Amino acid sequence: MINVTKTFFPPLEEYNQQLQRIWKNEWLTNRGELLQELEEKLKDYLTVSNVIIMNNGTIPLQIALKVLGDKGEIITTPFSYVATSAAIVWENCTPVFVDIHPDYLTIDETKIEEAITIKTTAILATHVFGNPCNIETIEAIAKKHKLKVIYDAAHCFGVTYNGKSIFEYGDVSTCSFHATKLFHTGEGGALFCNEETLRHKMFYSHNFGHNGPLAFHGLGVNGKISELQAAMGLSVLPYMNAIIESRRKTVDYYDQNLDFSKLKRVKLRENTRWNYSYYAIIFESEEILIRVQKALNDEQIFPRRYFYPSLNTIPYINGESMPVSENISSRVMCLPLYFDLKKIDLIQICKKISNAL
Ligand SMILES: *Cc1c(COP(=O)(O)O)cnc(C)c1O
Repeated sequence: MINVTKTFFPPLEEYNQQLQRIWKNEWLTNRGELLQELEEKLKDYLTVSNVIIMNNGTIPLQIALKVLGDKGEIITTPFSYVATSAAIVWENCTPVFVDIHPDYLTIDETKIEEAITIKTTAILATHVFGNPCNIETIEAIAKKHKLKVIYDAAHCFGVTYNGKSIFEYGDVSTCSFHATKLFHTGEGGALFCNEETLRHKMFYSHNFGHNGPLAFHGLGVNGKISELQAAMGLSVLPYMNAIIESRRKTVDYYDQNLDFSKLKRVKLRENTRWNYSYYAIIFESEEILIRVQKALNDEQIFPRRYFYPSLNTIPYINGESMPVSENISSRVMCLPLYFDLKKIDLIQICKKISNAL
């Protein structure tokens, strides 16, 4: 069976070596030695000045929205994983959708200003499949209207934009280290924030609001991960260059062997060093997508319809219609892409797609 992704498992001996450190320390959570070492190593690898590792990629969104969203209207994209909109609703804010750009699939920055009202507090945009939003325009709009910017950068491990880590942009940027993501700790995630006062608030928010054992800075939640997950991260991190390189080869193969007279790829924003996180293709119609999907499923190949449905249409959200997002959602699919996807499987995937097309 070939799935859209496959979790990278580091050599078991290497994970065991990390576990031995935990047993020796007799320290299992609350920002232990391994967690702190992982944060330092991530700063180096990603070339970021700060990172707060958290227990998944959703809690940092919720914390950022709690602190910056202030129960207001949040301008957001309908084309993302459900966590993006759900976090807004969960934090008692109101999602206000702005449609997406048909080529980049990120929020259409030209439509943001008309969605701003007196109640708008922040923009929460997703860098879709590792492809950056139009950061310059979004920052300019935010500055003009005094709004905060939060980037859901769950797909963006290792992406740089204009030579700088993508996580350095926005008031807050978040990432997911879920097992299906490029870099993982099983479950896990991170929050990046360059402004010191704000970062301090985000930091205590992820640890119950503690100010030492007996006092509190303010309200908080539990967003910590354990040493077991940090051990996984420390074991996976040394393989990241190899993982990205092997995915690059798979992407090259798809690029050279799929029939782009009948398919479209997502357009990558200029000045981006991409991370080969998702291989999304856009079909001419949903009917063709379903035909191709069925042909692949018959061979035990399971691509995924990321992202479907368009988030403005989910039941607990009364979103206005978003024609571009709904249209793209109905005919976009992500093909299998992972570090050791075999050439023989790739050949078969491309052949099945060609035949079904
Ligand atoms: C995976 C993902 C999340 C949620 O991350 P978790 O670690 O699973 O909580 C949020 N946003 C996007 C775009 C994602 O793909």
